[in-house]
Amino acid sequence: MAKKILIVGGVGGGATVAAQIRRANKEDEIILLEKGGHVSFSNCGMPYYIGGTIENRDAILYSKEKFSEKFQVEVRTFTEVTAIDRSNKEITYCSKTGNHQETYNTLILSPGASAVMPSIKGMNRERTFSLHTIPDMDAIHAYIETNQPKSAAVIGGGFVGLEMIENLHAKGITCKLIDRSEQVMNVIDADMARIVQEYLTKKNIEVRLNDGLHHFSNDGKLLHVNSGGTIQADLTIMAVGIRPNTKLAVDASLEIGKTGAILVNTFMQTSDPSIYALGDVVETKDPITGHGRNIALAGPAHRQAFVIANHLNGKPITYNGTYGTNILKLFDLTIGSTGHNSDSLEAYGKSYDVATLQSLSNASYYPGADKLWIKVLFDKQHGTILGGQVVGHAGVDKRLAVLATAIKGKLTVFDLSDLELGYAPPYSSPKDPINILGYKASSKLEQ
Ligand SMILES: Cc1cc2nc3c(=O)[nH]c(=O)nc-3n(C[C@H](O)[C@H](O)[C@H](O)COP(=O)(O)OP(=O)(O)OC[C@H]3O[C@@H](n4cnc5c(N)ncnc54)[C@H](O)[C@@H]3O)c2cc1C
Repeated sequence: MAKKILIVGGVGGGATVAAQIRRANKEDEIILLEKGGHVSFSNCGMPYYIGGTIENRDAILYSKEKFSEKFQVEVRTFTEVTAIDRSNKEITYCSKTGNHQETYNTLILSPGASAVMPSIKGMNRERTFSLHTIPDMDAIHAYIETNQPKSAAVIGGGFVGLEMIENLHAKGITCKLIDRSEQVMNVIDADMARIVQEYLTKKNIEVRLNDGLHHFSNDGKLLHVNSGGTIQADLTIMAVGIRPNTKLAVDASLEIGKTGAILVNTFMQTSDPSIYALGDVVETKDPITGHGRNIALAGPAHRQAFVIANHLNGKPITYNGTYGTNILKLFDLTIGSTGHNSDSLEAYGKSYDVATLQSLSNASYYPGADKLWIKVLFDKQHGTILGGQVVGHAGVDKRLAVLATAIKGKLTVFDLSDLELGYAPPYSSPKDPINILGYKASSKLEQ
């Protein structure tokens, strides 16, 4: 019998699960409920539209009508789901026409996360932005076009902060980065982050670590930092993190995990089997430590959508956890990591060792060979790989993909030296840097 499926949130996870369900099943009624005005847009492309690499705004959007027609899904934008009545299998939503109810057989939650925007004394919201939605993107873009700012402060040296630095720089805006922690990019270890910090300095980006924004003055253009100094900035980007949108789930008494995100089983069902959840809002089991992890990345959301669509259609494929593999472009530097870093392994009390290698991306005599840094974190007893980090200018994505695959396949550092990765001078050396790293790490275990 055809089911009625309601999906809350129509972007990374929501739009994908709608499309996946429709591919598997032509009968079910699918209704996508999205609080904002856009569905299925590419959040990941937004910084590049601001910077001008993507010139056409429409390139990162997907029209609601096109989506609806292609996947035979009813799409309702400007529709915010405000409550779930689990006993009657009914949601309440608020749209331009007021509050309404809608029943469901299956409810899927993909409300994502929200950017943290602290309220800081003296802040002028007309020149202080976060970047999480299309209206955020449009506001930054319009501000730059109208005001032609010359300087910017970016608060937070994570993914969004660093991508914004590259893209503001592309607009001729001088950037200063402030981060309250000891390093940028806390997904990687301090020694690898140092390479990134030195690179930023070479690019004339002032990096202030161990410092925070205390307050603004001069109509939000003068930033007073905790260390006592001031920074002049025509605009400020707050990139200080995100929080999963769990209110609906909490109010409906769905189980919440230790990370504060919605707990799901391996089929992405919440503690109520009629309600699934996916994307930035869920806590899944970390395959390496067995603990819960909340990771906000597009790849896992897409895989989770596939798992839900299959489960709903009688094919019980399990979601096997998120390794957190990520990659970032920062001008011509690429930074990637997978699995755990030293801090998280220590937090979980895992006994581990590390090996690091500074190498070249390909044969030294062939044009384009450039510095490449790789780090592997591995189990001290068996050599099983627990994490990997790569920084460099060329060939980073390839080495990262090898390390991510190695972790998933439960390979050891001994296997890294034994991998055949393909060699020709423009791509590698007869012993790929991954092989050499494997030898280095293995020798630590053999001692
Ligand atoms: C600037 C930026 C760059 C990124 N770059 C990358 C990248 O390069 N690589 C990568 O892997 N990931 C990247 N991400 C993360 C990636 O976009 C997310 O992990 C992914 O979109 C998660 O999908 P989601 O469905 O959980 O959340 P989202 O895609 O954020 O969708 C959630 C939607 O739910 C809606 N919603 C919330 N509450 C309600 C409600 N009550 N009723 C109705 N609708 C609601 C929201 O309006 C929102 O549109 C980036 C994110 C941002 C913001």
